[in-house]
Amino acid sequence: MKISTRLIIIFITIAIFATFPGCAASEPKRYSRSFLGAFDTAITLIGYSNSQKTFDNYADQAQERFLELHQMFDRYNAYEGVNNIYTINHEGYNQPVKVAPELISMLEHAIKWQEAYPGAVNIALGSVLEIWHDVRTEALADPVNAKLPDRQTLEEANLHTSIDNLVIDETTNTVMLTDPELKLDLGAVAKGYATELVTQELIASGWDSFIISSGGNVRTTSGPSAGGRDTWNIGIQDPEAALSGDEDKLLMTLMLTNQSVVTSGDYQRYYIYGGRRYHHIVDPQTLEPSQEHTSVTVVTEDSGLADFLSTTLFILPYERGLDYIEEIDGAEAVWVLNDGTVKMTAGLHLLIQDTTAPNES
Ligand code: ADP
Ligand code: MG
Repeated sequence: MKISTRLIIIFITIAIFATFPGCAASEPKRYSRSFLGAFDTAITLIGYSNSQKTFDNYADQAQERFLELHQMFDRYNAYEGVNNIYTINHEGYNQPVKVAPELISMLEHAIKWQEAYPGAVNIALGSVLEIWHDVRTEALADPVNAKLPDRQTLEEANLHTSIDNLVIDETTNTVMLTDPELKLDLGAVAKGYATELVTQELIASGWDSFIISSGGNVRTTSGPSAGGRDTWNIGIQDPEAALSGDEDKLLMTLMLTNQSVVTSGDYQRYYIYGGRRYHHIVDPQTLEPSQEHTSVTVVTEDSGLADFLSTTLFILPYERGLDYIEEIDGAEAVWVLNDGTVKMTAGLHLLIQDTTAPNES
């Protein structure tokens, strides 16, 4: 018997399947919890455990941590008693802001990655991203009066996007900005980074039989999934079908163990102006939403890196992205180009579930 449980959540780009036969009493059972409130998306934890109580303890730990990390990485809101990205952006000019060690480590990872894979994601691009964020928010509230940002304003903002003006002091856990107009934005990487951190913390607590899905970011573990198998089947949404309202259609299903799969796409957060879609991922060369692809999906073990790379590859032409991915051990990618062509790395083929194989029972 094969039962597929499909989880479709609004704004989620990846559908998760779990196949589970009827279990013997002693076998771990499948539990799940979804919650809102972190990273502007529904977050779902699915795992195998011996009791509801054990699962609930882990789920409480994960949920609490996601909410905490959300506040820490938020650039748009201040929270009482928390020094976060908002605090740094508003109070950090020439004045060190003391932050949690996780935030220091997140910034250092992002800087390391953007130096290794330059030309696309820059966490210091906040001044430019804010302009697009504001026109998009206004356009969504009032579509008839949608407009494009003023070109000169974009170019002036772009003068204040150097990562060299972010000063981190690891010994005091402080962050300071040496450009008054510099704004940090962790949107390209924060959700994946948080997902990785929570995953590692649950593993350290003694559990490794779960997956976390946070709005297009999925992290699988190496522990047993359905029926004691060690692979997790993750469906990647077909972006073109999603744009025309069919959220269920899949591009492919991947079979993963201890890997993350993250998708960046132009089909969920956008507004329309002059018949064109203006989405939320900005090419730092043109200062406009990138126009290369409809979606890019990246597989790597580390969910933070996968999130960073999916946004990076979404901005870059296919060939440049391919060069980056081929350098990274264990990293694979799938591109859906604007004309609908699907490209993928050679190793990705090995992860695709063969739908012609007989059903497991
Ligand atoms: P999502 O958050 O929808 O899952 P991504 O991980 O691709 O998608 O990140 C998109 C977010 O990254 C944007 O909302 C914005 O905050 C930020 N961003 C967009 N373009 C860039 C860029 N060139 N450099 C750094 N951050 C970016
Ligand atoms: Mg990303």
